[in-house]
Formats: sequence, structure tokens, C-alpha cells
Amino acid sequence: MKLISVRCNHCGAPLEVPPTARFVTCGFCDAQLVVHHSGSAHSTELLEEIKATTDGLVEQVEQLKHREEVEQLDRQWEITQRELQVHGKDGRVSVPSKGGAIFGTVIATVFGFVWMLFAGSIVARGMRMGLPSAAALFPLFGLVFIVIGIAGGLLHYSKAQRYEQAKAQYQRRRRAALGLEDPRRIPTNEVR
Ligand SMILES: [Zn+2]
Repeated sequence: MKLISVRCNHCGAPLEVPPTARFVTCGFCDAQLVVHHSGSAHSTELLEEIKATTDGLVEQVEQLKHREEVEQLDRQWEITQRELQVHGKDGRVSVPSKGGAIFGTVIATVFGFVWMLFAGSIVARGMRMGLPSAAALFPLFGLVFIVIGIAGGLLHYSKAQRYEQAKAQYQRRRRAALGLEDPRRIPTNEVR
């Protein structure tokens, strides 16, 4: 079989290899070489350099995947935030908070009691001056305020709780996607 001449890409030594050879070890420096054939031209390349390039590519693909995962997590979190955020009466948007929920409930309850006290005393005086007995219902509207306040507070509170959980989950997954945290630590029962 006719041999072809190539040069070792590592030490430059002339080597004789079979024309179909794909790999060759340099007899002078022991370098592992890949033989490239392109038409009548033949060259060699160090195997470890190819491996380093491939490893680099694999790493880049891995990084791209991580970035994509992080971007998706960020998008998901934005959607969750929009779902759970609270719209104030003045049009302001805020994050639901447990403190805010409790505060709102207390305000509504206090308002309801104050309403009952004041309206009660006014109606009691009015009834002595001939107001119909149906007016006795008027102070009871305070109870409605209290019920609505408590219901709204509970809703707000559960939103705040979901918000906190979703935020913690998002942050944990983001750290994991960035390789900052071991993904095995993420409980598998969490909704993907
Ligand atoms: Zn060599």
C-alpha cells in the first residue's frame, strides 16, 4: 500500500501513514494525531486539541440551555407576579403582603364597629322622636363592612402566601438553573 506523507502537528516530524488512516501516533513525540484528508492534501491535528474544542462547544451548549431555562423561569415569574399583584384604589399596583391583609381587616372591622356605635346612637335617638322601627337595620350595616373586610382580608392573605411560596420557588429554581444550587434539593412535588 502506498503511504502518504504528513507532518506531525505537534513536533513537526515527517510521518508516513496509510492513505485511509484516520488516527496516528507520532513515532517521535508520541502525540495522538487525527489525520485530515482533503483531496490530495493531508494534514494532522492534535487529538487533545480537538477534544478541548469539543468540550468547549459542549460547555457552550450547556450554558445556552441554562440561559434559556433562566429566561423561561423569569417569564413564568412575571406572569405569576401579574396574577397575584394587588391593585389599589388609586390604580397603584403592589405585591400582596400578609401585613397588608391583616391591616386591611383590622381597619374594616374597626370601621364596622364605629359605624354600629354611631349609627346605633343616632337611630336610638331618632326612634324616640318617631323614626320607624325599620331604621334599626341601619346600624347593622356595620356588620356588612366587617364581613366584607374579613373576607377580603382572607383572600389577600392567601394571595400573599401564594406569592411568598412562588417567589421562593422561583428564586431556588433560578439559582439551580445557574448552577448555584444542587437541583436535587428542589422537592419533586413542586408544580413545574
Ligand atoms: Zn510528533
